[in-house]
Amino acid sequence: MSRIFIASKGDRAGMARLFRAALPEFEVLTDLAPGDDRPVPYIVVGRPDPGVVRSVPGLQVVLSLNAGIEHLLASGEVPQDIPIVRLVDEGLAAGMAEWVLAHVLGWHRNILAYRDEQPQRRWAPKAEKLARERVVTVLGAGALGGPVADHLLRFGFQTRVWSRSGRAIDGAAAFAHDHLAEAVTGADVLVNLLPLTPDTRDLIDAGLLARLAPGAFLVNGARGGHVVDDDLIAALDSGHLSGAALDVFRTEPLPPEHPFWTHPKILVSPHVAAPTHMDIAVAEMVANIRRHMAGTPMLNVVDRTAGY
Ligand code: NAP
Repeated sequence: MSRIFIASKGDRAGMARLFRAALPEFEVLTDLAPGDDRPVPYIVVGRPDPGVVRSVPGLQVVLSLNAGIEHLLASGEVPQDIPIVRLVDEGLAAGMAEWVLAHVLGWHRNILAYRDEQPQRRWAPKAEKLARERVVTVLGAGALGGPVADHLLRFGFQTRVWSRSGRAIDGAAAFAHDHLAEAVTGADVLVNLLPLTPDTRDLIDAGLLARLAPGAFLVNGARGGHVVDDDLIAALDSGHLSGAALDVFRTEPLPPEHPFWTHPKILVSPHVAAPTHMDIAVAEMVANIRRHMAGTPMLNVVDRTAGY
């Protein structure tokens, strides 16, 4: 009988029930008994406490409950020879597409601008554009950026995508790593769906924001470390940017004293853009465990050199 250790925070018992139903031949553990040194080849983690991963005997695979795994790499907790499998599933992609589209459409059709004017009973129609008159740049064309670009294209937005390899998305203008300036120059909306790596940290700074069209809108659903907070506030205060929707922050929860909370042009949400849906996530992880057991390459194994 093989074993799997559910070491994530949150509802371990609920997740264990799902794993037991899907892997009846497994012993599913929610704790490691002291002195039990029988091998546990698989561990499921979110943000594990220090020492937890290294304490597992006979570990072979780390299954992440998150799409972003920068914290696992930075912690050094996972030995180099143990593969980390990140979460990629249609629930995350659908959730992120809904969240991004809600903000892009809300900004594009002035929904919040009218709401802000409602208390003054102002009847002041703005110049309402069609989607095809707006340029939206998506940074990252991966598991989440790709579907988001597809949805933007379906609405008719002029869509650009920027990725390391210049990954093509049907209907979008694709830009590779060295062409960031062209990808963002003149964009009306910038959507960030990059992984957080040494290469992408602090990418969204004053210089990049200055390239966007006057009055542009920023949507960040990726990681807080991509955005230089002070540069964003300066761009909003100068009027160069008209607003920002932020789901992720350098420190989470966002500290009460952080200026983002009270900035009139910033919409804060508490890291909910693409929540993990347990049933979908467990099915995805079980499929990878079955691949591993069959000696078939697993899907979505993190490339430690690239950092995502
Ligand atoms: P992914 O599948 O790994 O896609 C990453 C994309 O970024 C790829 O297109 C990749 O290029 C590109 N990229 C990586 N490094 C780059 C660089 N240096 N320059 C240019 N492009 C680069 O990631 P994902 O699953 O879509 O996740 C995207 C982000 O969403 C992550 O930060 C993740 O943590 C975050 N996330 C947030 C939530 C939430 O609720 N807010 C939920 C889930 C995930 P290639 O295509 O060439 O490889």
